[in-house]
Amino acid sequence: MTLDEARLMANVNGRAQRLFEDGYRARWNGVGLLEIRSAKGATYLVDTEAETCDCPFYRAHQGRHPCKHSLGWRLLVSRQRACRRLVLLLLLRAWADLDDRTPAGFLEVNCHD
Ligand SMILES: [Zn+2]
Repeated sequence: MTLDEARLMANVNGRAQRLFEDGYRARWNGVGLLEIRSAKGATYLVDTEAETCDCPFYRAHQGRHPCKHSLGWRLLVSRQRACRRLVLLLLLRAWADLDDRTPAGFLEVNCHD
């Protein structure tokens, strides 16, 4: 690997860790297929078993270098799941606050993620 390639991969690795924070979202689209959508609406399909992607970066490097989507999809999915869990918990808490029939202790849930 050349110095330029090492720099490129360090950059791709960094961006792979920030997919969720950068506004990327993922949803399963078939067995092992994950559709990843950018904040601007571009969508890419990652084959999570083969670790391939149909994005321009992956195609430009003909699979020699993994792209940020194929490197970062696991972290993206786990952050997205944690965020949805938190939103659901906040909604349940708001509902419980509005409903005086909710039994005491109903929402005393600990999340250990
Ligand atoms: Zn990609």
